[in-house]
Amino acid sequence: MSEKLPVLFIAHGSPMNALENNDYTQSIKALAQSIDKPKAIMVISAHWTTKGTYITSEDQPKTIHDFYGFPEELYNIKYSPKGSEKYSKIALELLAKDNVKGTTSWGLDHGAWTVLRHMYPDADIPVFQMSLNVLFNDEEHYKLGKKLASLREKGILIIGSGNIVHNLREIDFAEDARPAEWAIEFDKYVADAIRDKKHEDLINYKSVGQAAALAVPTDEHYLPLLYILAMQEEGEKAKFVYEGILNRSLSMRSVEITS
Ligand code: ZN
Repeated sequence: MSEKLPVLFIAHGSPMNALENNDYTQSIKALAQSIDKPKAIMVISAHWTTKGTYITSEDQPKTIHDFYGFPEELYNIKYSPKGSEKYSKIALELLAKDNVKGTTSWGLDHGAWTVLRHMYPDADIPVFQMSLNVLFNDEEHYKLGKKLASLREKGILIIGSGNIVHNLREIDFAEDARPAEWAIEFDKYVADAIRDKKHEDLINYKSVGQAAALAVPTDEHYLPLLYILAMQEEGEKAKFVYEGILNRSLSMRSVEITS
């Protein structure tokens, strides 16, 4: 494969999406079908935060059910791709000078498998994950993201999995719940900055003030976006493969960066 693969930011929302068939799941499935089949997938998930940056380095990652109070059906799902160790080694070598380490103490969390189950239902592509270093500032996350870019030419599809607006305390499960004003404001701010390639505005999102504080009460669902945008190269486009604010405070906006 000589062509560069795109890079993706996929909003994962509720773990229940793993079981659903809706506009959103159909969109990410169609997206996967539109991309050349990758040799491996690396997921940067909101649900794996660590002190220091880690990459999973194991051939058969276990499915982690890292959520509580959901139907049993969801806990029975296993997503079991094989053979990722040789690919995670490529990423580890690339980041050797950045003190990124391999680990066998994770697996695939729901930020990875609830999305991949729709995108690659056969689980026939090796998958590994990279964690979010809680000791990094926003700029440092972005800079580490930039260093991953060459993996795209090696057939590794990089997926950031999070949500641009993610506030569970403000959530409203009513089906007709209207998006909160601040959720609309922050989602639009981010969409405009992506469209205009103003990555500084995305790194400095806290300058938005109150809307940012409500949309990003903790930053782990936002940060995967910075890694993905950091890999956008000169002349590449950003496409919104899905958008919409669900349950008042959850943006499902998903992004594909492609040439
Ligand atoms: Zn999540």
